[in-house]
Amino acid sequence: MLLTDYISEQDANELMERYYRGDLVSELLLEYDIPVTASKLITLFPPRILKRQCPYCDENLQQKRPSKSAMNDRWHNSTNFPYCPSCNHTEIDETSHRFQQCHCNNCQEIRDVIAAQEVAKEQDAINRYLAKDGIAPVEYFSLNHTQYLYLATLLRGAGDESCEHIIGDKIFGSVLTERGKPVPISPCTEFTREEMMMTLWNSGVIRLSDESPLDGFSIAQDDDGLFVKGVYLNKCWWKQNTTMQDTGYLLSPGMAMDFDECLDLWKKIAKAEIIRYLNVSRDEINLNSPIGPKTNDLIDWILERYSVAQAYNFIWRGVREALHFNEKNGISGKHASNMVISSIRRRAEKAFATDTEVECYGRTEPPSLVAQLFYDYMLGIGERGFTECPNMDAVIDAISARLNALNEDEDESSDE
Ligand SMILES: [Zn+2]
Ligand SMILES: [Zn+2]
Repeated sequence: MLLTDYISEQDANELMERYYRGDLVSELLLEYDIPVTASKLITLFPPRILKRQCPYCDENLQQKRPSKSAMNDRWHNSTNFPYCPSCNHTEIDETSHRFQQCHCNNCQEIRDVIAAQEVAKEQDAINRYLAKDGIAPVEYFSLNHTQYLYLATLLRGAGDESCEHIIGDKIFGSVLTERGKPVPISPCTEFTREEMMMTLWNSGVIRLSDESPLDGFSIAQDDDGLFVKGVYLNKCWWKQNTTMQDTGYLLSPGMAMDFDECLDLWKKIAKAEIIRYLNVSRDEINLNSPIGPKTNDLIDWILERYSVAQAYNFIWRGVREALHFNEKNGISGKHASNMVISSIRRRAEKAFATDTEVECYGRTEPPSLVAQLFYDYMLGIGERGFTECPNMDAVIDAISARLNALNEDEDESSDE
């Protein structure tokens, strides 16, 4: 309803003039015989018609009339935006209202077009980047066992059904469950990222997929336009980039043959398992700190002499000792966290110097996928990978035993 529904246009103009001049609203309502409450009167005022036109229609913009009390209200005046009665476009003053935008269909369409252009530019930058990464497939049978193992692990744990893609956001989560417990791809994310992903990416065994989502890439701008500054390993998709198409082969590569490489792999996985256990144990008492060269050297020293299961023993006791000592003496923070490492070192060195039998501790979590594949399948030593110190004799025995079994099978079949 507008004023003119009750009175003539001339009376309406006169009433509005008197209203703004300061005449009492109750008196005006009585005099002009308008049957609304005092607070409603202002809502009957017709909007002001501005000279400016809507950029989308030929309509003149309109603006609501402020109530008398709001006339000098700066906030009200700054938000009383001119609008188009036909398409609802609102002229927002962007210098003072940067975070508001017009929601009319016309403005939304323009924003959509701009957004689509931005996406196209980003996609273009990504395509240029992917073209550089697009090297020819690597001959599958030229890979080493480390590459076979890492590729099979990633495909098993984070691959799609066709084994064509490795899905970024599956790589770092727990992907399988063993009796309801999560099984990660590798013992720790650093190992998955720095060792497994980088080994495969740097050698071209995997490459970025052009089906990766846009947010898998970090995009920046320089004078030449947009470019890819980096990729998020956990968001991008990866393609296995070898000549092998047989998924059976890809998921279950042959047993390992190279003694040195196997011992090296055993040590790498064992070390990652120890780091995992150390981090989890320190986390539990809020004493986590990054693994630096000192801790790295200590773990290497332990692994030359002891198994992962025995290292768990040193760690468990070391953490308990530090916790007990800190609670008694009120020590916390970095010093307390260093104490864990000192305690582990002292225990390990003493046990070695005095030739003391060190009890193997059990796993607290299921082994990671890469450990399972390597210990159980590629090397065939099972849990001994966990309970034995990585050693060449065990590697030679395991590989020789499997070679003999293989030869016997062949002899039998040739006898027939
Ligand atoms: Zn309009
Ligand atoms: Zn608009």
